[in-house]
Amino acid sequence: MLPESEINRVLVVTAHPDDADFGSAGSVALFVDKGVEVTYLLVTDGDAGGNERTLDNSGMAELRRKEQLAAAKAVGVTDVRFLGYPDGQVVPSLELRRAIARVIRQVRPDLVITHHPDRNYQFIAPSHPDHRAVGGATLDAVYPDARNPYAFPELIKEEGLEAWTVREVWLNGGSTPNHWVDITESMDRKLAALQSHVSQVSHVEGFTDFVRSRFAAWAEQAGLGEGRYAEGFQVVPTA
Ligand SMILES: [Zn+2]
Repeated sequence: MLPESEINRVLVVTAHPDDADFGSAGSVALFVDKGVEVTYLLVTDGDAGGNERTLDNSGMAELRRKEQLAAAKAVGVTDVRFLGYPDGQVVPSLELRRAIARVIRQVRPDLVITHHPDRNYQFIAPSHPDHRAVGGATLDAVYPDARNPYAFPELIKEEGLEAWTVREVWLNGGSTPNHWVDITESMDRKLAALQSHVSQVSHVEGFTDFVRSRFAAWAEQAGLGEGRYAEGFQVVPTA
């Protein structure tokens, strides 16, 4: 694995508002504590999410952007970018690969965190089709697109964005995590980030207890013991 001292910039690519907060906000908060620059890239605005039937899709998109900005702030992230794709309709297209490769070349991250592109047969929620599409497109953008100067040559010619090699990817939501981050210290900030998504979680009874028990179970699976919390990832070396 990439030594922590060599991680200076992290890019988190997700499909929807709240994905980063469920998947990696505890780890992100710990990176921010160490002075790492973290950028969030959201492919959709989440305009098809939530139970707020009084809003149309564009009203929901605006609300969810605001909620995501607040959630990012709760873990110290201020650079939040949106690609504005329609929620529920993402496919791993060449256009999406180029859009993600562009941001990789702009941000030049050492580490990218994104969704696992394979279906998880143990739980259904991590394998939302948008998640699989974004995970696949992001891995393709990491290799080969962002590092290959001949891929999407207009990114260099028109935007001056030179090729960039991401050195490691962490995948969320897969069935075979092989890396656990102890987030006990940042669990309260992760919860604050999640609770910023008022349209998604405020109506869920026992939400805080549910989140705590989920991440406590992972800490036990990771062998960290009782009373700890952990986020799990599958690490993909990409250097
Ligand atoms: Zn999602």
